[in-house]
Amino acid sequence: MFDSKMLTSFVIKSSLCKYSNMKIGGKATYLLAPHSLSDLSSILVEANSLGLKILPVGGGSNILFGNVGNRVIILDAYLPELFEVDNETVIASSNQKISSFIDMCAQYELGGLEFIAGIPAHIGGAIHMNAGAFGKCIFDYLLWVEYIDKHGKINKIDFKSIKFGYRTTSIDGFITKAAFNMEKKTKEQIIADKKDIISKRLERHPYDYPSLGSTFKNPAGKYAGKLIEECGLKGLQQGGAEISKKHANFIINKGSATFEEVIELINIIQETVSREKGINLELEVKVIN
Ligand SMILES: Cc1cc2nc3c(=O)[nH]c(=O)nc-3n(C[C@H](O)[C@H](O)[C@H](O)COP(=O)(O)OP(=O)(O)OC[C@H]3O[C@@H](n4cnc5c(N)ncnc54)[C@H](O)[C@@H]3O)c2cc1C
Repeated sequence: MFDSKMLTSFVIKSSLCKYSNMKIGGKATYLLAPHSLSDLSSILVEANSLGLKILPVGGGSNILFGNVGNRVIILDAYLPELFEVDNETVIASSNQKISSFIDMCAQYELGGLEFIAGIPAHIGGAIHMNAGAFGKCIFDYLLWVEYIDKHGKINKIDFKSIKFGYRTTSIDGFITKAAFNMEKKTKEQIIADKKDIISKRLERHPYDYPSLGSTFKNPAGKYAGKLIEECGLKGLQQGGAEISKKHANFIINKGSATFEEVIELINIIQETVSREKGINLELEVKVIN
């Protein structure tokens, strides 16, 4: 184990399960909670000089924690919050929750991101994953992103210079803030659209148990959930983990699921869909092990 006085001074003694929406995770050597951007910058420089991998954590709605070893896990939760409006441009810190961001924009009669309402994510994580739904993605509204790289340098990058695709982006660093080009929309309409999207999600997705959303990316022209369902895997359980009966692309934690049980279900799905459909399902969820 590395001995870094600088890193250990930011360590919080908490279990990782608190920071994943799947409610799975044990102890980490370096679970860090910086309170300022300069502390964040120092952490990134120190981790890099020690050759340690970093993992930014936002809402934890897409992260499955296994044995994280010496990985430096950095929470955005305690960093300063920012929300600024200039005409139709909104600048927000990466640690804003999607839900609050939509509500705050509504106060200024600015809408657009309602399509991701109901996702328990933060702005930074949603940008890193290029979150999307109902035919839209967050990059449709993005103007620029600010991030700190492994050398502690702050970079501001125009969205046109970022490579992005289906649930992927090329940003290599800790996103700290971003600007969005929002749409003029009445507050009432934003609230109504947000409500509508959330009720569609509640109808289709298993919100009554912890999950990480879609486990696999949809293969071109197909739906992962439909393929899994057609293979008869809906409802399959391994201990406390279950392939949701409501939506087969969601693996839910029925209360006491372990990392190994979720991985077992992931392996069964990948093997079965490959054998029966000839399709290799690619993970959307970030497995940290
Ligand atoms: C119920 C449910 C519904 C969902 N529905 C959708 C959906 O409709 N569409 C969709 O796209 N996704 C969906 N998801 C998945 C998930 O919410 C998204 O991937 C979201 O973008 C992740 O954001 P987060 O803040 O939770 O990121 P985290 O889970 O914290 O992190 C995800 C990845 O982003 C990285 N990251 C996080 N913050 C930063 C940062 N500041 N800088 C750099 N990298 C960062 C992490 O290191 C990790 O690799 C859903 C999840 C759940 C639980």
